[in-house]
Amino acid sequence: MRLEGKVALISGGARGMGAAEARLFASEGAKVVLGDVLEAEGRQVEAEIAESGADAVFVRLDVTSESDWLSAVDTALQRFGKLDILVNNAGIWDRAMIEEQTEENWDRVMDINGKGVFLGTKASISAMREAGGGSIVNISSVAGLIGSAASTAYNASKGAVRLLTKSTAVQYAAEGIRCNSVHPGPIQTQMLDDVYPDDSTRQQRQDAIPLGRLGEMEDVARGVLFLASDEASYITGSELVIDGGYTAM
Ligand code: NAD
Repeated sequence: MRLEGKVALISGGARGMGAAEARLFASEGAKVVLGDVLEAEGRQVEAEIAESGADAVFVRLDVTSESDWLSAVDTALQRFGKLDILVNNAGIWDRAMIEEQTEENWDRVMDINGKGVFLGTKASISAMREAGGGSIVNISSVAGLIGSAASTAYNASKGAVRLLTKSTAVQYAAEGIRCNSVHPGPIQTQMLDDVYPDDSTRQQRQDAIPLGRLGEMEDVARGVLFLASDEASYITGSELVIDGGYTAM
């Protein structure tokens, strides 16, 4: 029970890695608030966790809305009494080279992937201060570390998350609030199906990974769990790369 007594808020918790993190956190003793724009899927995850005997509540959360974030944090406080952990996981993929990138899509990607992390962090700080400290885990990507031949706004947004993480870490370390970023390589979720719709491009990407396989959601969830837990109490402002060795080459 590595999160016994902790309360966690996870954005984008209705499916993919966010749902895997919600299930793992609950199995490790956390009470979980999961927020997403996908209501039916979110309520399904909430029900699964409740069936396992743990506590979870779904809230409708559009990460681009400050008022949605404030009510998500309020739900954690009302239902579970405090907030210890925030996982800024919600994100969208976008594929376009610079000349093909529309301003509209640039803004949409930056809003969800970048501003969403800022708003979630801003909304959670005072509750974490009240709790005597906390842990924020921001899901960036290997796309936040290296450039891409195919995507523009996505990499820029994930790079922004990487440095927002470090400013958060520096600004709130004295209050016991840690903040770290996680950088997954290709992980088998719905997003990956959108990125690599055909088998040959997926195979090419897999062949470029030293460990020889695509990542599973649980590969990332276990890293997020570690950073969220007190086992990582001396770790802040750091980057955890979970990519099978892809960016080591
Ligand atoms: P996914 O598409 O399965 O899940 C993303 C979740 O975010 C969905 O539930 C979606 O509804 C939610 N979401 C999207 N816009 C939202 C909004 N405005 N407000 C609230 N929720 C919103 O994808 P995933 O692979 O599980 O991605 C999770 C995170 O991991 C994302 O930030 C993604 O960029 C990042 N990531 C994914 C991969 C990968 O290969 N799958 C690699 C690196 C990083």
